[in-house]
Amino acid sequence: MPEITLLNKYLPPNTAEYVLKLLKRYPVYFKIVAPRKTKLGDFKVYNKTGKLQITINNDLKPLNFLITTIHELAHLYNWKMYKNDIDPHGEEWKNEYKKLFLPILSTQFLSQEEVNLLQAHLNNPKASSCADVMLKKHFKKEGVVHLEDVPFGKYFNLDGRMFSIEKKLRKRYLCVEQSSGRKYYINGLAEVENVTIEEAKQIEGCLTNSKLQKKDEINAVSETEKKGIKYLKDVPIGEIFFFQKKLFRNDKKLRTRFLCTEQSTDRKYYINGQAKVFEM
Ligand SMILES: [Zn+2]
Repeated sequence: MPEITLLNKYLPPNTAEYVLKLLKRYPVYFKIVAPRKTKLGDFKVYNKTGKLQITINNDLKPLNFLITTIHELAHLYNWKMYKNDIDPHGEEWKNEYKKLFLPILSTQFLSQEEVNLLQAHLNNPKASSCADVMLKKHFKKEGVVHLEDVPFGKYFNLDGRMFSIEKKLRKRYLCVEQSSGRKYYINGLAEVENVTIEEAKQIEGCLTNSKLQKKDEINAVSETEKKGIKYLKDVPIGEIFFFQKKLFRNDKKLRTRFLCTEQSTDRKYYINGQAKVFEM
């Protein structure tokens, strides 16, 4: 299929030509792929070969496809100029992102509603279009809810497993799997299905077998959100952090170690300041 025809299938009408021009500025592998739960698209540099690749989920609405593609193109252009010297979604990225949108911010390319939406969005682009409330409302798929939309104490279904929410952390939720009582950290943007307790019991009964193989997937969801890796010595006193799958509070600095309290048991531990932890 000629490139332009393929792009036309995914993008708002009249924008494919412009996007194709941007894609051709530098050699890059551009792949439209099966949807992933944890991201809409990504930009990757293969260290060994130097190959550059952009992937975009194939289930995005046209405007979201455009936003995601331009988001990743801005990473590509930044990389060409600065390599790893800059903050991935810092000033340079924001400027590039806005710059790439400018030529198509008119009703010649998009509907008036889309232009308005984008103008509001571009005033302060977020790292993820999912973090932008207006856009999120616009893109909300029917029947799909994000974990962050599920009320406390209600049940939800993620990949055939029933959970309830126990606690909200910054971006993730501490959730209890109903069949095992085990706790998991799940990204607030994970796509889940809202279910009643009766439905939960029914589904749980049918799906006990699929439990084990799905475990890795859910761990993967939480792994991808473990950004903010830092050393314990950089976590401020009084702050909560995540270490060896448990939550701790940093209580006190000793010479090389820190006195920390595990949050679920209130037990005290001495942890080395060089331990790699995740900030919550
Ligand atoms: Zn990004």
